[in-house]
Amino acid sequence: MKVSQQQMLVRYQPQDPLTTPAVEVRVDSAPTLSNDRISVQDRVETVKPDSQGNFLCQPGTAEFHQVNTFVIANRTLNVFEKALGHKIPWAFQGDLKIHPHYDEGFNAFYLRQDHSLNFFDGFDKTLGKTVAGSESLDVVSHETGHAILDGLRPGLMGWFGSGEAPAFHESFGDMAAMLTALQDDGVLDRVCAETGGDLHKPNVVSRLAEEMSQGINHTYLQGTRPENWVMRDANNDFLYLKPESLPENAPPEVLASEPHSFSRIFTGAFWDVLSGVSDHFRQQGQDPRQALISSRDVMARLLARTVELGPNRLNRLSQMGQAMIEADRRYFQSEYADIIEKTLQARNLVPQSSPKSPTFSRGQTPTNLSEADRMLETRQTGPKLPDDLKAQALWKNDLGETFIRYDAIREVDLDPKTCTDLAASLTVAMDDQGKVFHALWEPVDETSIELARQEVDGCLKSDRGYIAQPGQGREKLIKVPIAYANPVKAKG
Ligand SMILES: [Zn+2]
Repeated sequence: MKVSQQQMLVRYQPQDPLTTPAVEVRVDSAPTLSNDRISVQDRVETVKPDSQGNFLCQPGTAEFHQVNTFVIANRTLNVFEKALGHKIPWAFQGDLKIHPHYDEGFNAFYLRQDHSLNFFDGFDKTLGKTVAGSESLDVVSHETGHAILDGLRPGLMGWFGSGEAPAFHESFGDMAAMLTALQDDGVLDRVCAETGGDLHKPNVVSRLAEEMSQGINHTYLQGTRPENWVMRDANNDFLYLKPESLPENAPPEVLASEPHSFSRIFTGAFWDVLSGVSDHFRQQGQDPRQALISSRDVMARLLARTVELGPNRLNRLSQMGQAMIEADRRYFQSEYADIIEKTLQARNLVPQSSPKSPTFSRGQTPTNLSEADRMLETRQTGPKLPDDLKAQALWKNDLGETFIRYDAIREVDLDPKTCTDLAASLTVAMDDQGKVFHALWEPVDETSIELARQEVDGCLKSDRGYIAQPGQGREKLIKVPIAYANPVKAKG
């Protein structure tokens, strides 16, 4: 039997517990902390609604964390599904499981293999309280962002050697958190009060994970940073440099090749574009609050479309810059081209030329995976594609466009004892008349194999970021997030 939808009142954290009190909002949901996309699974029993059907729990309690993670993960997913006009699949079967109290520490991670978002609790002696990752929108929305991006572009997280993809993943998490925070009326008021509309002034949204940053400052950095210090601020001046020219780790103020640190370049560019778009609406006569709402909605669509048109493996961040220009051209008639190009230039994220793309003759739009495979056999010209390239995913959006992702998996030897899988990917998008307007071919070549070898070497040295699956005479290494500590040998 289908559970009927009803409105309920929930208390949740619209930003971060260090900056903002929890608020009550009305949400549409079934009267449990689960739906067909997301469910909360905690060590303690999941909270039931009160006699009025509401979830009004006290901040700081396990029950509040359960409600908060559920509400924020749903809100984040909703931002991107609305922006794209279609359901976003997860990169796995079934629902996304939230573990609000996974372990102790100042951390959180998404793990595709376990279909889960996992949040940590760390005791901060200076603040005199437990810092719960599940209590901050910035943290919960960031992790949900990983799951959303993984659903749209599974190659970015799936294979070793995808260069700057881990940094783009971190950036996407932060961009998701900022766009989701800006859905809240109180947060919009606060940002307007702080900035007067000039979004390059310090504000509560561009500054990320305030409380967890302090937990890290007090616990791991000996309290050396100021009390308003944050790990990442989208209002930054970091310019792109090749990560191989940077130190692997550095103090937070300095750019490093470590993905969280390196992600700040793209997040900074995103915030610059958002500011520019907001200025554009203000020049058209909108007041700062309305301009912020308008630019938020443009940026949600622009980012989501960028990802949809962007690569499934990512060597350089500038490839996503290229996709952003393309998304603006197709969906906004290049309205924001000046702002985007100026920003990418200023950040050294100038797009490179794209590889040769396949072309397709006109024909019927495929409606399922086998029709998509047939389209490849009968309508494609251009570079010779591998015979085993098969359609893996197909979706339609509310504009009548159809997107297809094809993959061909290659088992690649890393050394005599270990191997891993890499995928060649083709992304095709066609309009409602069946005309292909976008085709991106990403082969597995010597460069991608060499990049995979280098990344695996680093993972083996630090014993992180992989799962080893025993095989016939050699192990297959499967990529998992670095934040997933204590790698375990998978069974069979
Ligand atoms: Zn992350």
